[in-house]
Amino acid sequence: MSEKSQGGGCAIIILNEKEYVDSILSDKNLEPSKTNTFLSMYARYLYHEKGLRKKEILKELNTFMERNYPRYNPLDWSASIEKYANKAGKYPLCECKGVWITEEELKTMEEIHDKILARLAFTLLCLAKFQNFRNPDNHNWVNYSNGEIYSMACINTTAFEKDVKLNKLRELGLIEYAKKVNNLNIQVLYLYNEGKQKLFVSDFRKLGYEWKLYKGEKYMRCAGCGILTKRKNNTQRYCKDCSDKVRNERQKNIMRKRRKQIGGNLYEVELF
Ligand SMILES: [Zn+2]
Repeated sequence: MSEKSQGGGCAIIILNEKEYVDSILSDKNLEPSKTNTFLSMYARYLYHEKGLRKKEILKELNTFMERNYPRYNPLDWSASIEKYANKAGKYPLCECKGVWITEEELKTMEEIHDKILARLAFTLLCLAKFQNFRNPDNHNWVNYSNGEIYSMACINTTAFEKDVKLNKLRELGLIEYAKKVNNLNIQVLYLYNEGKQKLFVSDFRKLGYEWKLYKGEKYMRCAGCGILTKRKNNTQRYCKDCSDKVRNERQKNIMRKRRKQIGGNLYEVELF
């Protein structure tokens, strides 16, 4: 595992990479912070889906950046782009639609009489299933850093408490650690794929909230981006980000209308 992924708490797990690349290509809306993630996927997309090879991949990545990245400077990016083009053939795109949680697994987690531990267990289970999907020889191991795991579990706590909570799951016989020193891998011991499929998880952005929603807490999926967010009232439709966007858009429209009206009749301006 890289240094970076151990420290940072911001793992981005994209279950369906092909769908993700297609969506970025069609609406051209790439958050600058996700540029590296996207470029590495796009390089693999061009290799496996479009049959392109290194020289053509380099050209396509550059063209994409010229068109979509604000103030693109090829010199700043050439090393990364070269690396992504070189590694493009190594792994195909992940096209995971989601993971099924079975009745037995749900029962095990519901028997944990500590809400936070249950949420942590649910997160680990989803991650183990996803890693099993990516690598059939994975055997229920999770190798994300503590920071990443807790961030996906939507649990905010100290580094010390993070270790304490994992140890509690271990005492309950639910997880085991890798025997090697300096290895943070965790093996999930309550994964029973054979059971009756009960809950399908297709979005890994807020795994902790997926569990809370399942447990009947007031969460909802945003009508804009689909992310799970706490429901504050019955008329709420969007997450914070999307509701800001919608408000801005509305404001722009009002301004546009107003400018038009000012051109016509000043007194018909809609005041807000
Ligand atoms: Zn949203």
